[in-house]
Amino acid sequence: MENSYDVIIIGSGIIGCCTAFELAKKGYKTLNVDKLASAGHGSTSGSCAIVRLHYSTPDGVAMAREGFYYWVDWEGYLGVKDKTGMARYVNTGCLVMKTPLNKSLKNVMASLDDLGVAYEELDADAIRDRFPLLNTRRYFPAKGLDDPEFGKPTGSAVAGAIHVPESGYVTDPQLSAHNVQVAAEAVGGEFRYRAEVTAILKSRGRTAGVRLKDGTEIHAPVVVNVAGPHSYIVNRMAGVEKGMKIRTRALRQEVCHVPSPEGFDYEKGMPIISDGDIACYSRPEVGNHVLIGSEDPECDQREWVDPEDYNRDFTRQWTTQAMRQAQRIDRLPIPNQAQGVVDLYDVTDDWIPIYDRSDLPGFYMAVGTSGNQYKNAPVVGVLMAELIEKTEAGHDHDRTPVTFTMRHTGRTCNIGFFSRLREVNPNSSFSVIG
Ligand SMILES: Cc1cc2nc3c(=O)[nH]c(=O)nc-3n(C[C@H](O)[C@H](O)[C@H](O)COP(=O)(O)OP(=O)(O)OC[C@H]3O[C@@H](n4cnc5c(N)ncnc54)[C@H](O)[C@@H]3O)c2cc1C
Repeated sequence: MENSYDVIIIGSGIIGCCTAFELAKKGYKTLNVDKLASAGHGSTSGSCAIVRLHYSTPDGVAMAREGFYYWVDWEGYLGVKDKTGMARYVNTGCLVMKTPLNKSLKNVMASLDDLGVAYEELDADAIRDRFPLLNTRRYFPAKGLDDPEFGKPTGSAVAGAIHVPESGYVTDPQLSAHNVQVAAEAVGGEFRYRAEVTAILKSRGRTAGVRLKDGTEIHAPVVVNVAGPHSYIVNRMAGVEKGMKIRTRALRQEVCHVPSPEGFDYEKGMPIISDGDIACYSRPEVGNHVLIGSEDPECDQREWVDPEDYNRDFTRQWTTQAMRQAQRIDRLPIPNQAQGVVDLYDVTDDWIPIYDRSDLPGFYMAVGTSGNQYKNAPVVGVLMAELIEKTEAGHDHDRTPVTFTMRHTGRTCNIGFFSRLREVNPNSSFSVIG
């Protein structure tokens, strides 16, 4: 087996695969190593795969807008057909509730206007007219189940919402990562599974490759950390954490799958709902189910965990999320048997990812995706390939950040926005909204 490459990418989740695809297209000889059995088996497999455009910063919105175009033309982007099947983008539209926390979406609307994205403002009556299943009472701020005020409205109506027609979700995130692997292989990329990296090799003050658990050494002048919730462990192996102002940690999350209210086809016509009023996001899920995630309200305790050792069973958090969603969807059934997903986010101090080089020459990272970067993976692939190409050619990214023109929107992406050396971004939502 070959043991020398131009670039080794640690991780074959959706972002690791997209990074490989873009680098391989540029002519780099790439190898992805992943300790699991196949592409997308890490946190990508637990992703809700929602493709929405509202972020709290203009850079966040612009990147999501760019990402959207890749998903609507998934096969065109990849240029291959995966024999095991192709993931599919389903357009549902997205309803985003206005709350004091998101400043009634003023900044989001300004960013959408700037990008020429169509959306509509709806008041509570218009929300009910459009989606009669939803009740529009106000519950903000979210509360824990033990709070005596839980479930009691705090106002007769929500402050309104925006509806963004161009939003949706991808049917099978794990398969989407495999699709990208197949595309990367078609342009020369290689993948090795059940291969756990235990050390980053160094030589003459720069990265020289990786050592695997079985002792195998694989050589490359460039190594990229795309290890998802394990990112901090890999950064520690490389000894680069001390050179970062922003760090990453693994955060446990639960996602509920509950049946649709009886007699209603939830998969027909229901949008993604980002509902800060009840601190839940939701979307239709196959089998006429409703998928419910958390928007991480203040009152919920955050569970920072060791990604190797955490509770994979549902807890009271599952019931809390389902009950919160039931405040918005009348007659929402909440079964005794919890169903859904328990997985991890890789969260930064400001919930904005780190796409950057490190203090160790040749060692890069696409980490801290904070539960909100699945949709951006193809753009991140392009970004990382640009960053690596320019930095390896001698550009000082820390001094003058690399920029590139995004293919679809024609906007400039300043990669410095995602720097490991940034101050915590005060404009972030400090939640999964990013
Ligand atoms: C519950 C949940 C819901 C989400 N919902 C959304 C959503 O709706 N929309 C959205 O945009 N984003 C969402 N996200 C976020 C999104 O899924 C992630 O940002 C994205 O999947 C991260 O991809 P990745 O390739 O960076 O990481 P991963 O998919 O976690 O891949 C990392 C890989 O690295 C491997 N690895 C780790 N350490 C080592 C090692 N030492 N040696 C070898 N391999 C190693 C792992 O095995 C793993 O396969 C969600 C995430 C979760 C958990």
